[in-house]
Amino acid sequence: MMGPVPVFELHSGFWVNLHHFLYRQAREQRDPAASKAAHEPLPGLTEAERQTWEEAVNYYAANYADRDLLFNSELIALKNQLGDFEDCKELAGTSRKECNAGLPGKLTPILDGAAPIYRAHWWPEHDRANRAWVAAVAPLIRQKGLGLAERLADIYESRWPKEKIRVEITTYASWAGAYTTLDPLRVTISSTDPANQGDAALEMVFHEASHGLAGTVQAAIVRECRQRNKAIPRDLWHALLFYTTGEVIKAAMRERNGAATKPGQAYVPYAIREGLYSRRWARYLELLERYWQPYLDGRTTLDDAIARMVSAM
Ligand SMILES: [Zn+2]
Repeated sequence: MMGPVPVFELHSGFWVNLHHFLYRQAREQRDPAASKAAHEPLPGLTEAERQTWEEAVNYYAANYADRDLLFNSELIALKNQLGDFEDCKELAGTSRKECNAGLPGKLTPILDGAAPIYRAHWWPEHDRANRAWVAAVAPLIRQKGLGLAERLADIYESRWPKEKIRVEITTYASWAGAYTTLDPLRVTISSTDPANQGDAALEMVFHEASHGLAGTVQAAIVRECRQRNKAIPRDLWHALLFYTTGEVIKAAMRERNGAATKPGQAYVPYAIREGLYSRRWARYLELLERYWQPYLDGRTTLDDAIARMVSAM
């Protein structure tokens, strides 16, 4: 753990990073064209190291590369477990009994074999990037975190989990650059994704964590659709999450910068900057601006805003 900040607990965990790095390399090995991230060349490995490392990548290619980090229950459980074992030097429990992770398949020898190689050749740089990202975002969270957390809980008429939210900082965090799994609510964010830098890091933390507050909104959308006999728009709730976090962060940044903000220097929400509101989402944006924004402005209720949005679809 890297110092208390309100609500969040930010980690640069060795095993979680090794796991995501192997997963990424395995996916690139299977389909080099599908990934834009450059395949990192093997940095000066001995022949024995290269063999062990390739065996690990091959194991991930055979067992995990086709599965989705966000949706596959085994990968979710594995990621959570590896986070919990952050302080262990190995996962077989040979040096400390409580470090016997009981991982599935041959994963324990695979990871314990790859670990010293990763530690020697990649981890110092990955850990440095993760810690630099944390050092940049932590003051923003300290300054704005409690206020943002309260505002978002109010908007979603929902409560944050009592426990701190564990955020794993990794160099690779799925194709999207970040993802969140529920029960328990855990966030994984890439420290190196260009879209996650600067003030956007704060938005990314709160967007991902908001996945844990989305239940009320999702239920309201489903209910309104059923009442009107309409198909449930699959990811309207997710566009709503992006829109809401973006607006809330924008307001927080305006407050911070005060009169110093010149026109054109205002914070641009992630979804706008990254071009998420295209195709189906362009229509969602219109609906959100028209029917959800009044709710954010305190001029209507959550249920009413969702009802209007759904009936306009
Ligand atoms: Zn999301």
